[in-house]
Amino acid sequence: MKYSPRRARLGTSALMFLSLALLASSGLAQRQKPPAPTGPWMNTNLSPDERANLVMKEMTLDEKIALLHGVGMPTSDPVTPENAASNRGVGYVVGVPRLGIPGIDMSDAAYGVRSSGENGRYSTALPANVAAAASWDTDAAFEYGALIGRELRAQGYNMSLGGGVDITREPRNGRTFEYLGEDPVLAGTLIARLIEGTQSAHVIGDIKHYAFNDQESGRNSVNIHIGNRAARETDLLAFEIGVTQGHPAAVMCSYNRLNGDFACENQYLLNEVLKKDFHFPGFVLSDWGGTHSTEKASAAGLDNEEPGHLFFGDPYKAAVQAGTISTTELDDHVHRILRSMFAAGVIDYPRERSVVDPFAGLDVARKIEEGGIVLLKNDHSTLPLDAAKLHTIAVIGAHSDVGMISGGGSAQVDPIGGNAIMPLGQGATHWQEQIWFPTSPLKAIQARAPKAVVKYDPGVDAAAAAAAAKGADLAIVFAYQWESEGMDLPSLSLPVYKGVDQNAVIAAVAAANPHTIVVLETGSPVTMPWVDSPAAILEAWYAGSDGASAVGNVLFGTVNPSGKLPNTFPKSEADLPHPTITMPPPASQHFSGPVSPAQRGAGLPPFDVTYDEGVKVGYKWYDAERKTPLFPFGFGLSYTTYRYSGLHVNPENKVKVTFTVANTGTRAGAEVAEVYAALPAGAQEPPKRLVGWSKVQLNAGEKRTVTVEIDPKYLSIFDEQKNDWSLLPGDYTLMVGGSSQDLPLKATVHLK
Ligand code: BGC
Repeated sequence: MKYSPRRARLGTSALMFLSLALLASSGLAQRQKPPAPTGPWMNTNLSPDERANLVMKEMTLDEKIALLHGVGMPTSDPVTPENAASNRGVGYVVGVPRLGIPGIDMSDAAYGVRSSGENGRYSTALPANVAAAASWDTDAAFEYGALIGRELRAQGYNMSLGGGVDITREPRNGRTFEYLGEDPVLAGTLIARLIEGTQSAHVIGDIKHYAFNDQESGRNSVNIHIGNRAARETDLLAFEIGVTQGHPAAVMCSYNRLNGDFACENQYLLNEVLKKDFHFPGFVLSDWGGTHSTEKASAAGLDNEEPGHLFFGDPYKAAVQAGTISTTELDDHVHRILRSMFAAGVIDYPRERSVVDPFAGLDVARKIEEGGIVLLKNDHSTLPLDAAKLHTIAVIGAHSDVGMISGGGSAQVDPIGGNAIMPLGQGATHWQEQIWFPTSPLKAIQARAPKAVVKYDPGVDAAAAAAAAKGADLAIVFAYQWESEGMDLPSLSLPVYKGVDQNAVIAAVAAANPHTIVVLETGSPVTMPWVDSPAAILEAWYAGSDGASAVGNVLFGTVNPSGKLPNTFPKSEADLPHPTITMPPPASQHFSGPVSPAQRGAGLPPFDVTYDEGVKVGYKWYDAERKTPLFPFGFGLSYTTYRYSGLHVNPENKVKVTFTVANTGTRAGAEVAEVYAALPAGAQEPPKRLVGWSKVQLNAGEKRTVTVEIDPKYLSIFDEQKNDWSLLPGDYTLMVGGSSQDLPLKATVHLK
């Protein structure tokens, strides 16, 4: 949802002052705490379900209905009695103040807490989620979530709206940076750890957007077609792992339709798969404005309408009174919300504001970025740089004198210090405008090469950039691709911004100086017509608040890169399952004029997108179709080298894959050792799938034997007849190595 333009026009400091004044004058600063809960439901020896039941015994119908919906968007709405106790985030559910059940105070928090600047606060901008995925580091994923949880709590929120886990089927999706890549096992495992981290701070975590919200173009009207087997083995598997391993208290259903029904009133998605098959005990809230009905949505399993109450407010009460919604159904929704509040700890650990420590946050952000940067090319060991040997460095392009780009939309975090490319005091965040975090690559490079002359060229003119590069020992070109919710990328090419063709600049610089390094700041894969020219290429993603330090540390070798691609980089869009994105016809784009509740309910006319690639998502597509990508899934270089040996597969009970990784180079490093499986031919699956991995830290010369235990589900297919996972008897080949295209160890075992 959008920021109000009125707020966006105001400067940061003005906003801070205003917010503080508002807080004081509206009494929010010293607002009355709800009475400390004292009922029998405060007995912490009881389970969340028992506690919820005890509260419900005391509740009136109106109090129950009030839990089923939000009261608008406090961020942009005026202060009202209903939202006065909120923290002015994007959503608020009033709770049951009479019984000491607090409101649910929601903030977007994909890579940090949103809207902090508007509220006169600070929060850490972590690297984009896709960067965290590139680390393949489950501990880092926990840290990522834990930092978000801590900062939400410190700012007075008790619910996160982060947790994006739609797998990257369509890499031009403008929200690719908010997600965790194309593989369901990688994405699901990481989101589970992230949620555990968030909820460790006693805030409600959610995962979203459930499900198949894979393109922004026509997201409110698109009707996705996919069969159940393909659905369960791909996008839904990421959610299954996230839900069953991470135990999020909430799941946000998405805007799109799936096989005819909107996701937020889709029996199959909500009741059958999420609640029955995944045994999800929590609550489902709609994406903002994603609710389309009362009876139908309630019966399908939607528990909470956000952000308002068009369908789950008065019409819901009327439906209960008229008997078209049973009290059992109502109570199930209410129970789910209350039990989740107890389970997440938001009742036992009431909201309490504290001061966010932005410096501690920078440290976490930097470390996560250091683990997620992917070294794509490094001819002649150009990297790491030796500062002592460099006299002149040309730093070129992409505002690299002052900042690094961030991802936009509802994920946008206000940078501490404002937007690096805006005049001072011009405001921090603007809907769908580029926000550059004030972390300067130029300064980071100069600090690491203090004796070198470091010159900056803005990279707006290819000839001038080439001239700057020619006279230098080394040229470092920063290039970017900006993404945001609400739009898709027209292509995977590095975009032309304000007339600047970044591909042409890179080609010209690399032609002028053989020692050219390209640093990419992108959310999605990009095509690289110039790939053979530069000596080295780094993918830094959206690098977060301290991104420049992380990039500097990798360039100069303080940090040995260890990230691996969570998404395939294709050679061209022609190689994608869908060479072009299906765009909505004009009538399905947006409503014109005022919209009645009936129109809102019916929604925009659907247009169809058929996922005829089925289970062949990401690398599975390229493998099956024998297309060679530019850089494959799971790929990433290091400043050291690794050798794999000694594969042993134990097929008893759970399959266990044991092997040895040796660091054969001269530097310490961390290797992501990836395990893939080829299923028996009868399974009719793509050539291989990721089934596990281990990130192994090794000193120079060190070797370690590791065992990766494989969840049987990851070796199974989804059997539509049985409506369950099925492990087929037959020969399974396990493959181990450092990339999906470099798997030196192979062993075949027979599973019964
Ligand atoms: C986005 C959600 C977000 C919500 C609230 C929607 O437009 O799709 O991801 O949580 O707005 O801002």
